[in-house]
Amino acid sequence: MLDLHVHLVGHNDREANRENIRAFLDEASRRGLKEIGFADHDYYWEQMNFPLIREVAKDYPQLNVRIGLEAEYRPNEEARIKHLLEQFPFDFVIGSVHEINGWAFDIPEEEQKHWEQDADVLYQRYFDVVTQAASSGLFTTIGHFDLIKIFGVRPRTDILVLAAEALTAVAKHGLVLEVNTNGRYKPVQEFYPEQCLREEIQRRGIDFTLGSDAHCAEVVGRDLDEGIELLRQMGVHSIVGFLRLNKVRYSLD
Ligand code: ZN
Ligand code: FE
Ligand code: FE
Ligand code: ZN
Repeated sequence: MLDLHVHLVGHNDREANRENIRAFLDEASRRGLKEIGFADHDYYWEQMNFPLIREVAKDYPQLNVRIGLEAEYRPNEEARIKHLLEQFPFDFVIGSVHEINGWAFDIPEEEQKHWEQDADVLYQRYFDVVTQAASSGLFTTIGHFDLIKIFGVRPRTDILVLAAEALTAVAKHGLVLEVNTNGRYKPVQEFYPEQCLREEIQRRGIDFTLGSDAHCAEVVGRDLDEGIELLRQMGVHSIVGFLRLNKVRYSLD
């Protein structure tokens, strides 16, 4: 019913023009979404066109079209992100960790390095950065919370122990976590975050949102019906979207 993580310009694959915006909004409508949130990677800032999204959205009155950003969180770059967020009245801001100390760990070329190191240390280093992201006060949402599992490496220690501090920071700052269905199409072949984390998230009273992480129009809304079903089965009664950084609640009942 809502997809709050789509990449209009992908990885600089296409322009943010009228035709492409329409393709995303048409797919969202076709899938019966109530809300779609654009969240391009901050490093394609120059390619973005927020006023044009607003304009095209007027032709889709049944769809809540939100504008956000997926910001790359690096601990020494909080001022850079803060500056970007001052440039536009965003509805939501996803903070994502795809890098640990300058190591861009989620690209296929880096898989070998995941298997070569101690899995617990790998997870600890990742969740340390996520904790800092969650504590930064910059974001409404943390993207793909357990992205570090992308290649299927699993820690020896209980994931709930390794992620505890990050979850505490997420809860303390009122952040939202997404069920991000894109993980199914990565080597790990499952949604982010995994089931036992989803249960812990619910237990801690942290709100969920949904994201396909679509990098092209055809993928908008992919598997979100399953995401919703998983949440329902856990007894989650609502998920949240955003308007100008405020949560908007959607009932699952
Ligand atoms: Zn991407
Ligand atoms: Fe990401
Ligand atoms: Fe993304
Ligand atoms: Zn992402």
